[in-house]
Amino acid sequence: METIMIVEDEQAIALLLKYNLEKAGYQTISVSHGNRVLAAVEKNLPSLILLDWMLPEISGLELCKIIRNNPELKNIPIIMLTAKGQEEDKVSGLSAGADDYVTKPFSVPELLARIKTNLRRVSTTSAPAKKEYVFHDITLNAIEKKVFRGENYVRVGPTEFRILKLLLSNPRQVFSRQDLLKEVWGNSVYVEARTVDVHIRRLRKALNEFGPDYIRTIRATGYSLDDHEIGEEDGEY
Ligand code: CA
Repeated sequence: METIMIVEDEQAIALLLKYNLEKAGYQTISVSHGNRVLAAVEKNLPSLILLDWMLPEISGLELCKIIRNNPELKNIPIIMLTAKGQEEDKVSGLSAGADDYVTKPFSVPELLARIKTNLRRVSTTSAPAKKEYVFHDITLNAIEKKVFRGENYVRVGPTEFRILKLLLSNPRQVFSRQDLLKEVWGNSVYVEARTVDVHIRRLRKALNEFGPDYIRTIRATGYSLDDHEIGEEDGEY
């Protein structure tokens, strides 16, 4: 079971997080004092840390830097929680080594999605690189950077290639636009969610020239690669 460390001095928020994370199947450790975080992290080695920015004694930002400078701990994903919404705070949070940034008040489903994405990224980066990804007649060669449908070479742009690779490595998993933005574009650039739709459309166009549409649109949610029956939930994008 994955353990999430909650570092938050406001008890109401800490309890809300604990309740929802445990309901979602995670184990939690709560720490309310900044100066107890390092000892707790070293003792329990959490899978991910939710780190509040505004803490007494030592700020979340300082803690983030300390954790990132510790070779044993530096790979633990950190999501900063903060009431600050300014872009410059986001930049300093990310440059201090946070993997992601969530502004309070946050929506629980969104936070859970971010946690999932950050945990998955750790597991995919530590897994050995795979050369070929296959789904039905679609084949993506990650070394040669080529896509085929059956015998047909499919010409796709670099962004479409990365999207397809992500979808192929997790067939039938639904990715929200935010997941795709984070995984494909990274969290250091600001890209509109609608941009995802544009690239999905291009990818579909390129792939569907040679076979059926396996990209599923889940209205108001996101996309997945699926050999589904075409149903009414499929929106037009
Ligand atoms: Ca706080």
